[in-house]
Amino acid sequence: MELIAIEIICLVITVATLVMMTRTSFTVDGTRITPFIRSYIAFIIYLSSAIIIHLQGAQVIALMPALLKTLFFLHIFVIPVFIIIWFSDTERRILQSTTKRSILITQIVLVAFFVAASLIDIPRSHLFVFNGAGVWEGGNGVWLMLALSTVLTLISYGSFLLFRVMLTRFNLFGLLVTSITVITSLFFYAFFAHPYLFSTVGTSILLFSFLEWQRRELTLDPLTKIPNYTSCRNRLRQLTFHMRENTIFMIDIENFRLINDRYGTAIGDRVLAAFAASLSSLGGNTLAYRLFSNRFAIVSKRLSHPEIVRIVNTIRAKAAQGWKFDEHHISIHLQFAIVETPLGSNTPEEVIESLEFTMAQIKEQRKLSAIIFNQRLVLIRRRRLEILSSLRDAINDESKVMVHYQPIIDCSDKRIVAAEALMRLADPHLGMIGPSEFIPAAEHTGLIRELTAIMLRKVCTMLAAHPAMNLSHITINISGADMVSPEMGSRLLSIILESGVDPSKIVFEVTESMLLGSAAQILKNWKLFTEQGVRFMLDDFGTGYANIESLVTLPFEIVKLDRCVINNEANDYQLLALITSMLKRLGKLMVAEGVKNRTQLEVAVRHGVHYIQGYYFSKPVEEDQLIQWLDHSMCIVGQDQD
Ligand code: C2E
Ligand code: MG
Ligand code: MG
Repeated sequence: MELIAIEIICLVITVATLVMMTRTSFTVDGTRITPFIRSYIAFIIYLSSAIIIHLQGAQVIALMPALLKTLFFLHIFVIPVFIIIWFSDTERRILQSTTKRSILITQIVLVAFFVAASLIDIPRSHLFVFNGAGVWEGGNGVWLMLALSTVLTLISYGSFLLFRVMLTRFNLFGLLVTSITVITSLFFYAFFAHPYLFSTVGTSILLFSFLEWQRRELTLDPLTKIPNYTSCRNRLRQLTFHMRENTIFMIDIENFRLINDRYGTAIGDRVLAAFAASLSSLGGNTLAYRLFSNRFAIVSKRLSHPEIVRIVNTIRAKAAQGWKFDEHHISIHLQFAIVETPLGSNTPEEVIESLEFTMAQIKEQRKLSAIIFNQRLVLIRRRRLEILSSLRDAINDESKVMVHYQPIIDCSDKRIVAAEALMRLADPHLGMIGPSEFIPAAEHTGLIRELTAIMLRKVCTMLAAHPAMNLSHITINISGADMVSPEMGSRLLSIILESGVDPSKIVFEVTESMLLGSAAQILKNWKLFTEQGVRFMLDDFGTGYANIESLVTLPFEIVKLDRCVINNEANDYQLLALITSMLKRLGKLMVAEGVKNRTQLEVAVRHGVHYIQGYYFSKPVEEDQLIQWLDHSMCIVGQDQD
């Protein structure tokens, strides 16, 4: 009777778990997802038949011998079937469909053999021996079932081991424990003819499967109810492992911050939820994810380019049409970064990095709102990574940081009056790298501070080594990050003072964009330097920012006109005329940068520019060349560059 009681308890637990499972099922692409439901049904058949057989054994009920025998066979056959179904439900998301199908077919064929052999054997009763009342009395059939179930379990666990990269160690360990317990419980069944252990093991397995299913909540985004970043990463792990051909979209809601600021976060949340819903209803084998904040992803099987365009247009149309919330009609602007897999090393990290890189390109270029990651971008990305590693090397090995000097010529006597120190990186593999390639990366990573310190040290060493050099000053470019940092001010100043160089020989070039940073700290550093005699020059004047206020509030002695000013010939150099007349009024010294030919030189002189820097006189040169020119007090003969 205890056996029947245990089996009834197991049946109640199993049915209750099944009900809970169906209640928490959800829909993806119109399909209701209720995993393990087939396993539950198989196990309920097993338990029900066991209870009836054991009730008959306890003489609580009386069944016809033929019915009892049928129930017994059902009871025995459903055990290997349950094992196959449970493992295949677990494998569903893990194994590639062809692998899964071949494993399943092998297992079904084995079970079919077992069923056929058992049925054929009925008249001879070698496998299953029954008495006249239809009660099972022995035979090797149960041992055969045990052997078969063991083989099925080993096949399934083996396939998990083969694809272990898709599983966490915890999952793999859990599956191992499950497999061992199933086999042990069946061994008890065959050896002691007591099936209660298998009933409890089966119920526990299903209960754990249910708990695992509940954990899926962790991979759902709570706001939008679509899978989250973790889930997307897991999916990418599977796809890249199988070298699947996919198209992956990263979508950014460009104006989301504005929406939040204007309508409040509650409406912002509703926009996200509505957008997520529209993404997940795209259909056609696509799965939508919310990566974080206003960033989403769609994973699809590989699409042709017209199909990509169609999907982008469909999403865009929905976004432009917008939604109405509390009388506010809100539409969104989207940016799409698209990656086609498999990629080079084809890891999930590479896919995500490529998506992010493509998105960064969209934001940087501000021209296109949808870009497909392609070979050209692969090269740009590779070059950027190489430059970044070269940059890190240079910080550790200062000899790789090279200083070139571009002479600045006094218009009155055409002699070199100063020079601008310009940084280059000498990389053993990439050759000489120009600053426009590495300065943005250095600023982005914060490495610029180290580079500025190295540059200043090198320039001071050069000045200290040539005290008699006939040069008014050397200019050095410094970045916003240098000026806003409290410790950088004193660090740079101590480099100058320790070198023994007269601080007035150093002029820092700063740009207007840089002055947009934290004003208080910039002014502190400014004071620190100017008190010691270091001067500042406003660089690239006439480009974009034109925060003319800084010309008045900050005491720049010298202003350097950007080369776009001298290169703008429109209306007989009207831009140059305007800028120079204003600077003259303010009493500033002017340097014209980027002078390429004699005409530009003459125009600059005519407009009262004091100093000239440009390829007409010289490109940036190495230190030795500059020293040689200065030692011989040479006038450089200009040469037209176009
Ligand atoms: P910048 O400070 O405006 O420097 C002038 C740039 O214009 C230099 O390019 C120079 O070679 C170039 N140039 C001068 N005359 C001509 C000309 O006639 N024609 C043409 N086509 N170009 C001319 P470079 O050396 O490539 O430097 C580019 C920028 O990189 C610099 O612009 C500066 O913003 C930055 N940079 C260079 N060195 C450093 C550094 O040590 N620290 C920081 N923070 N930035 C630096
Ligand atoms: Mg400069
Ligand atoms: Mg400049």
